[in-house]
Amino acid sequence: MNVNETRKRTNVCSLSGFRISGLFAIINQVLFNRNKMSDLYDVIVIGSGPAGHTAAIYASRADLKVLVLEGWQPGGQLTTTTEVENFPGFKDGIMGPQLMAEMKAQAERFGSEYITKDVTKVDFSGSPKKVYAGEDEYQGKTVIIATGAKPRRLGLESEDRLWAKGVSACATCDGFFFRDKTVAVIGGGDSAMEEANFLTKFASKVYLIHRREDFRASEIMIDRVEANEKIEILLNKAPIEVLGENNVTGLKLKDTKTEEESEIAVDGMFLAIGHVPVTDIFKDQIELDGHGFAVPKEHTMTSKEGVFVAGDVADSRYRQGITAAGMGCMAGIDAIRWLDDQVV
Ligand code: NAP
Repeated sequence: MNVNETRKRTNVCSLSGFRISGLFAIINQVLFNRNKMSDLYDVIVIGSGPAGHTAAIYASRADLKVLVLEGWQPGGQLTTTTEVENFPGFKDGIMGPQLMAEMKAQAERFGSEYITKDVTKVDFSGSPKKVYAGEDEYQGKTVIIATGAKPRRLGLESEDRLWAKGVSACATCDGFFFRDKTVAVIGGGDSAMEEANFLTKFASKVYLIHRREDFRASEIMIDRVEANEKIEILLNKAPIEVLGENNVTGLKLKDTKTEEESEIAVDGMFLAIGHVPVTDIFKDQIELDGHGFAVPKEHTMTSKEGVFVAGDVADSRYRQGITAAGMGCMAGIDAIRWLDDQVV
């Protein structure tokens, strides 16, 4: 109903009580619709790591109405690291949480709205797309999924306690801090091989600890590790405790065949036992690969029209802050262009 129609009806309604109640119904309807419309966003970003923030910066800077559902633990994996030295633009490095706060402030500067809630359900079947945080429903013409991935953990109490105090899941990020130290890499896949080799640039000795005799990694990666004199391979061993009060001093290991326990002295432990993409709530909505990663079908658009993806949730290979930010930029631009194309 347009404004003129409403005015016309207002005049008619003043003629009788019945018509006045009709007027209230109309006003109510107009107000209700306005409220509903205020909840319709051009772009809803789910996740607030570098991918989510960057997507929000691009979309809101294009004058779109953007909502970021940042989750109860905002900022993504970079908030669990200390100093980030490989994000371009900060020659002296920047603390991970600060980098995330700066990105958020930049997105807010262009009008992005942030809500600190975990998304519990999505419905991409119709238009607009619906995103739920518990009882609350948000509607978006487009959605950008930037929920990231979580490094798989061993599940030890001591591992949690010493996280970022010698326990890490990113050699590229934290290897530099272990110059001339001894570190252990846990895992038997390509990541473990890559991380072990990379760490020998800094560490004086690297243990590669794997729970089985056979590696999952490709031959070429195994060959490089075996040829590297700084790496000692320990097979059929699994960490059962990370030793140390305020920083890592060693590992308690259990032999997976004999159950015999032993200890080694190390200054750091790097987990390379895989990543788990945060895609549980999307599994019936968009195409995922065999490991649960979101699959971009056309540029950053998923199998569902108007639903885009950015960052580690769709990337099992690079998993860097800068690559996530780059993909966030791509998803932001793709959402802007897709919305433009919908206007006939
Ligand atoms: P992955 O291939 O899934 O390997 C994970 C490794 O961690 C496996 O050896 C596994 O042991 C071990 N593991 C899992 N849970 C464990 C636990 N609780 N305790 C101890 N060990 C545990 O993961 P990824 O190495 O991260 O590789 C992921 C994908 O990225 C792969 O497709 C890989 O090829 C690719 N990638 C490629 C490159 C490259 O080409 N340069 C580099 C990195 C990754 P089991 O073998 O006993 O299951």
